[in-house]
Amino acid sequence: MANLRFKVVGEAFRKKALAVQAPEGMTSEYYGKYVFNRETMVKYLSKETYKILTKAIDNGETLDRTVANGVAAGMKSWAMEMGATHYTHWFQPLTEGTAEKHDSFIEYAGAPGGSVLEEFSGKLLAQAEPDASSFPSGGIRSTFEARGYTAWDPSSPAFIVDDTLCIPTVFISYTGEALDYKTPLLKAVNAVTKAATEVCHYFDSSVKKTYSYLGWEQEYFLVDEGLYSARPDLLLTGRTLIGHESAKNQQLDDHYFGAIPERVQAFMKDLEFEGYKYNIPLKTRHNEVAPNQFELAPIFNEVNFAIDQNLLIMNLMDKVARKHGFRVLLHEKPFAGINGSGKHCNWSIGTDTGVGLFTPGKTPEENLQFITFVVNALMAVYKNNALLKASVMTAQNAHRLGANEAPPAIISAFLGTQISAVLDQLENAKAEEAIVMAGKNKLKLGVSTIPEVLVDNTDRNRTSPFAFTGNRFEFRAVGSSANCACAMIALNSAMAAQLKEFKAEVDAKIAAGDSKSKALFEVIKKYIKESKSIRFDGNGYSDEWKAEAAKRGLNCETSVPVIYDAYTTPESVKMFQSVNVFTERELEARNEIKWEIYTKKIQIEARVLGDLAINNVIPMATHYQSLLLDNLYKMSQIYGKDEALKLSKTNSDLVKEISERVAKIKSYTEEMIEARKVANKIDSERSKAVAYHDTVIPFFDKIRYEIDKLEMIVDDELWTLPKYREMLFIG
Ligand code: ADP
Ligand code: MG
Repeated sequence: MANLRFKVVGEAFRKKALAVQAPEGMTSEYYGKYVFNRETMVKYLSKETYKILTKAIDNGETLDRTVANGVAAGMKSWAMEMGATHYTHWFQPLTEGTAEKHDSFIEYAGAPGGSVLEEFSGKLLAQAEPDASSFPSGGIRSTFEARGYTAWDPSSPAFIVDDTLCIPTVFISYTGEALDYKTPLLKAVNAVTKAATEVCHYFDSSVKKTYSYLGWEQEYFLVDEGLYSARPDLLLTGRTLIGHESAKNQQLDDHYFGAIPERVQAFMKDLEFEGYKYNIPLKTRHNEVAPNQFELAPIFNEVNFAIDQNLLIMNLMDKVARKHGFRVLLHEKPFAGINGSGKHCNWSIGTDTGVGLFTPGKTPEENLQFITFVVNALMAVYKNNALLKASVMTAQNAHRLGANEAPPAIISAFLGTQISAVLDQLENAKAEEAIVMAGKNKLKLGVSTIPEVLVDNTDRNRTSPFAFTGNRFEFRAVGSSANCACAMIALNSAMAAQLKEFKAEVDAKIAAGDSKSKALFEVIKKYIKESKSIRFDGNGYSDEWKAEAAKRGLNCETSVPVIYDAYTTPESVKMFQSVNVFTERELEARNEIKWEIYTKKIQIEARVLGDLAINNVIPMATHYQSLLLDNLYKMSQIYGKDEALKLSKTNSDLVKEISERVAKIKSYTEEMIEARKVANKIDSERSKAVAYHDTVIPFFDKIRYEIDKLEMIVDDELWTLPKYREMLFIG
């Protein structure tokens, strides 16, 4: 019998790598071609407009309308020369990814009904009012007052995709509350850079500005598009809800850093060319641990740019993958039993004088500054460990965190033996001793000798969710499909609040008569002691750690909807308010949205699983069972019933096993539907999400278990759904 599955597998195997043509010229020549970056601005803006715009960007000042008119005119000329006919405000709603509504440049030249001309004014550039009633707002904006508006973010450059000029914007409600990720991100970055600059002044008064940096590493899977289309679960939920694991998967570790399959290599090259055209400095590409899993990473950038670039690259990945006959899977756990995908967020703060504040320095002052920032980061993570976990938690990421592969569902920080030793010694040193030790550069402790030691970076701990990696912290708990703004908002806000507190404490000591270095050391020592329970250099996957972390008072909650509560605790509200990032109302609204999205995701998965079970799996299994029964029946016609049952014992056992498993699948599915009905009646978004977590999800594994067993006994020819071994090993 011809089975669609064999057809798509056959086609997948026959697909050849596309020939990928490099764009003309050297990389540096087409790099940034589609971006209205400073080089382009110089050409298309008047000297005056360019000067005012870049100054406003550099100093975070607001622009007035006349400047916006000048910028819009330049942008329009450039975009039209590049073939653009439309423009859009490109924003980051609280769902995933980005949103855009395209408008053409055309306007009536005169009276309505007459001829048209291309127009794009400062007003259109600066602000728009998309009919945004269907974007989640957590009740901030009831649908009948649906006005949310988008406002231009001049700090992130506009770019062209196909025929459309995309203008990065924030998205806020009519009453001024943020309805997106970018608004609070810009506020958090503003807060942390301001606070860091002030703390830097203890060490170097020439620092005028600091920057918060992000280097993301995007993991993903590729699946042949034919196989993808034949899996309703992948198509609708981004992950496989059923599927027996392949006999061979990642046991041999032969995929990690292995040779990249030709078809994948072609995709990667194409994607890199595309990325370069958008100023995205893609630097690294390699195979990941799981079969068909890969990673790409650019050179780090300022966090606001880095996030826009990540969102853009996620869109480009999807587009380019389709061109190559693949589908890209950004879901955190597309396949059970093998590694999932994350998006490590490498985070650091640096000064305008070129100093990395998490980089051990060359002089004692620089090292004291380094220790100051590391210890404050530890404090921020310690105090906000529950919040940071909430910032990365989603229905999808729950499959990764705590699932014995990627970071555990407990936030801790890894420092490595050298830095740990320095902090331990500082903690026990008398303030005077410590000052002498650091200041005179002759010590056992050796704050000033950290750089040499650090060159040896071998004890990197892969199990830590927040690891120091030489000149930055790597927040590894972020999910691959996430907008990393969510994590970056929490982290930068927490750091900003922490640095402000640190400065207040140090200043109070100085005001009370302490020398600056004594004041710094005393507060640092106190922080080292206080934040100790967040430091953990051991195996984050072990059960001992779970017990130990609970003892230390770290947040060990694993239920996603309950984890979100961390956003609205009095401490979190106070922290976010202290740095002007969120009001309490915004935090509450955001949680409403998080719960709602969680419920919907689980609801969709439950429906797809139910459909697959009833429409696909049970029919396939009973079809096979009929064939077995037919065989048994014919055997009994020839040999008599008893003899036939003896001779065909295997078949008879299989018939029974199929009946039993099918019965279980059917009844679990019905019970799951019932649980959903009960949950759907609940009004509170939080309670509904909790009900989905507690009463619907437990059926997923039960149903899947029976289905995966059936997959192993039903005739391969009758199984119409692509199997793991097929989806995972075609490159
Ligand atoms: P690994 O996989 O070993 O963690 P990668 O080389 O894949 O490392 O990625 C490291 C990422 O960290 C890159 O995006 C890189 O640009 C970024 N990075 C390096 N230094 C910094 C820094 N000081 N601040 C932020 N990001 C950084
Ligand atoms: Mg990494």
